[in-house]
Amino acid sequence: MQSRVEILGLSPDALTTACGQWGQKPFRARQLLRWIHQRGQSDFSQMTDLARDFREQLQARAQVLTPPVLRDHVSADGTRKWLLDVGGGNAIETVFIPETSRGTLCVSTQAGCAVHCRFCSTGHQGFSRNLSSHEIIGQLWLALRALERDGVRGRVPLSSDHLDDDDTAEPRSRLISNVVFMGMGEPLQNYEATLAALRIMLDDHAYGLSRRRVTVSTSGVVPMIDRLRLDCPVALAVSLHAPDDSLRDQLVPINRKYPIDELLNSCLRYLDRAPRDFITFEYVMLDGVNDSDECAEQLLERVRRVPCKFNLIPFNPFPGSGLRKSPAERVRRFAQRLSDGGRVTTIRRTRGDDIDAACGQLAGEVRDRTGVNERIRHRVIPLAEAQ
Ligand code: SAH
Ligand code: SF4
Repeated sequence: MQSRVEILGLSPDALTTACGQWGQKPFRARQLLRWIHQRGQSDFSQMTDLARDFREQLQARAQVLTPPVLRDHVSADGTRKWLLDVGGGNAIETVFIPETSRGTLCVSTQAGCAVHCRFCSTGHQGFSRNLSSHEIIGQLWLALRALERDGVRGRVPLSSDHLDDDDTAEPRSRLISNVVFMGMGEPLQNYEATLAALRIMLDDHAYGLSRRRVTVSTSGVVPMIDRLRLDCPVALAVSLHAPDDSLRDQLVPINRKYPIDELLNSCLRYLDRAPRDFITFEYVMLDGVNDSDECAEQLLERVRRVPCKFNLIPFNPFPGSGLRKSPAERVRRFAQRLSDGGRVTTIRRTRGDDIDAACGQLAGEVRDRTGVNERIRHRVIPLAEAQ
């Protein structure tokens, strides 16, 4: 039997093409987008403004399938985390972060990650596979349904130190107003599926999110930053984490392929089409590794030519990382130096840490197929000594 199309993950263009192949007019694609994404309908027989024979055709040929929910936790601060089964022993995580004037969903793009950053628990687990577009958009679909059903607990006032601190204009009724690609995986190493999911998120007949409110976070896959710039420029966050190549080579191994200057050049190119006039540089604060005053000064010098903001992320430790978080006072001091140097700098507030939903704690469960995990484990050198 022919397998059914995962209609949830079809971009608006792909859905229009599919409708054409099914002998339907293009506007049917818009109707389907509204039924599936706006109303959350997964049963074609309920899509009452479609002709009965088209509904039957859809039932035979397509399906709206989301990954099964393995666990669903709500933290004391209202942060909610879903563990989703993506088959083959792999599970991924999706996190919802409520605030008074916005709701942010953090989505995953891969089961595991092949970049293997030194401080990231996803990276430590190795890589299993890319998620398909329906598994990525399915996280938004599922989260919206769950929040509509259960309501949002614990909306807390907007912190002044959050990533998108200038964006409070959206109507309060929108449960999920922002999406960040900051869950498990490197979105730009799963480009096509990420792109399809982005196009669905932005489409007015689907989720209608603004480009400014959808942020792709990357460890720095330079050629794909250039493609995203052309295909679908949304807000961009770049995980910098170090002011020089020798340290970044160790923390973010993809730096050996795309060193800092190349990365900064791609950021500059991106900016001419970006929906915001700055790049957000994320910087995880690691005690004794990248948090000295000298690092702050070098960092300012290094990014001098790039319009940017900094978002400092307190390191979330996990077993076996061999790293420590910088003391709060050090983080504040580092932030102050960057601000004094003229860069808007925020410190990310940790949310949901009682349910391990904070950045980099998203471990899910990954069947590592690369073997890199084991190799890395055998050559871990304490970073402070390795410098
Ligand atoms: N792969 C992409 C997006 C997912 S990671 C990227 O690296 O940008 C999202 C953010 O969480 C990145 O900035 C990453 O550096 C950060 N992060 C990873 N592990 C962390 C940890 N243990 N503590 C704090 N932040 C972490
Ligand atoms: Fe992958 Fe991002 Fe984690 Fe690095 S920080 S291992 S790129 S998920």
